[in-house]
Amino acid sequence: MAPLKILICGGGIAGPALAFWLARSGHHVVIVERHPALRATGAQVDLREQGIDMVKKMGLDETFRSKLVDETGFALVDSEGRIRATVLANRSGRGAQSFTSEYEIMRGDVVRILYDETKDAENVEYVFGKTVESFEQDGDNVVARFSDGSSDRFDILVGADGQGSRIRRAILPPNTPEPYRRLGIYIAYWFIPRTAEDTILRRTYLAPGGRMVFRRSHNPTETQVYFFLRDDNPEFQSIPRASVEKQKEFWAEKFKDAGWQMNRFIEGMKTTENFYCQEVVQVITDTWSKGRVVLLGDAAHCASPFSGMGTTGALIGAYVLAGEIVQNPDNIPKAFANYDKKLRPFVDTIQNIRTEMFQLGMPKSWWGIKIFYFVAWLLCLLRIPTLVAMFSKGERGGWKIPDYPELKPAR
Ligand SMILES: Cc1cc2nc3c(=O)[nH]c(=O)nc-3n(C[C@H](O)[C@H](O)[C@H](O)COP(=O)(O)OP(=O)(O)OC[C@H]3O[C@@H](n4cnc5c(N)ncnc54)[C@H](O)[C@@H]3O)c2cc1C
Repeated sequence: MAPLKILICGGGIAGPALAFWLARSGHHVVIVERHPALRATGAQVDLREQGIDMVKKMGLDETFRSKLVDETGFALVDSEGRIRATVLANRSGRGAQSFTSEYEIMRGDVVRILYDETKDAENVEYVFGKTVESFEQDGDNVVARFSDGSSDRFDILVGADGQGSRIRRAILPPNTPEPYRRLGIYIAYWFIPRTAEDTILRRTYLAPGGRMVFRRSHNPTETQVYFFLRDDNPEFQSIPRASVEKQKEFWAEKFKDAGWQMNRFIEGMKTTENFYCQEVVQVITDTWSKGRVVLLGDAAHCASPFSGMGTTGALIGAYVLAGEIVQNPDNIPKAFANYDKKLRPFVDTIQNIRTEMFQLGMPKSWWGIKIFYFVAWLLCLLRIPTLVAMFSKGERGGWKIPDYPELKPAR
């Protein structure tokens, strides 16, 4: 069987992870990334459960470990910054991860690791500042037309273009609304200069009005600030698409009276170069492929940052898709059908978020916050979260990574 020629649209995490496996199996991969350079930005992500096993399967455990962020756990603080409750990461080596994974890493480092592992392969080509404008397909080929006016023929087109995927829009029936499950939460995060009091214990603070703030530090000079707002006002849906200046104004206005270190955080937001804002959604669709076009990662099944499984889901999805393509190179419809069948039970578990938890965890009222802090204090005093993590079943939902012996690790 001749090697396949595969176009991946999106050079984030899922796309390069797929290229990693396909290139090692002898296929030709072209990755087009809309951003003019490697988009190695973003805040802290975590790998959990099957994601940690996947990094080991890739032979990249040591490489990932050399970049891990040392975060010991999290503390709930009051408006004076006093610690009211603490939950430490589960480093016992058994059970599940607690709120803080032992595998915390900056998104940019994951993107760089996967890029470095693939960029020099002779059968992988990265093209930055380019996207797929449109495509047409017949039974055996996809012809992609690119933003630079060129076009080319491929055996497969993979949409790994994230939560707002354009490839997904193109394979869904015309005028289908975005397949979003909106969680009624918005996030903004940015980096500010680190001070001596910013320790490696993440701070979490709640303020009335469904407002939550994280402060966490990932290197000697920078601290990450996250603002979360729980508000289902549909007018806010346009905020992530507004200019960065307008987005910053929005967040400053919403949080200026929240207490704790708000002046510091808002001042830091004005000058940061790392600002990012998004609506928290999940992508839930039955359609992961059409003909020779297939979706991968957030484009197919964004689980949202609240799942803690977005990066894990992207790595696992890439492995299953690569495994199926490599096992069925002459029957791509079968490969895509198997990919869907095998991965979907895992995706269903990682997308299973109980939205009632947001009402409890991000209360709107002052009283709700008081009750939350009291319950958190009591549970932490009894070490309940740590014990639950240690004695819970390791693998989320018990889903086992399928075995594809044809796929070869890096080392
Ligand atoms: C800039 C950025 C910052 C992020 N920060 C965080 C974070 O702090 N915490 C967190 O939990 N998750 C974050 N995420 C999301 C996280 O990376 C994903 O949830 C997860 O890892 C799945 O990866 P993915 O490759 O499917 O999607 P993504 O990581 O979103 O990657 C998609 C890639 O496709 C590119 N792209 C988009 N549209 C097109 C197009 N039309 N043509 C070509 N390329 C396109 C994007 O530029 C991006 O590089 C971030 C995503 C991005 C893009």
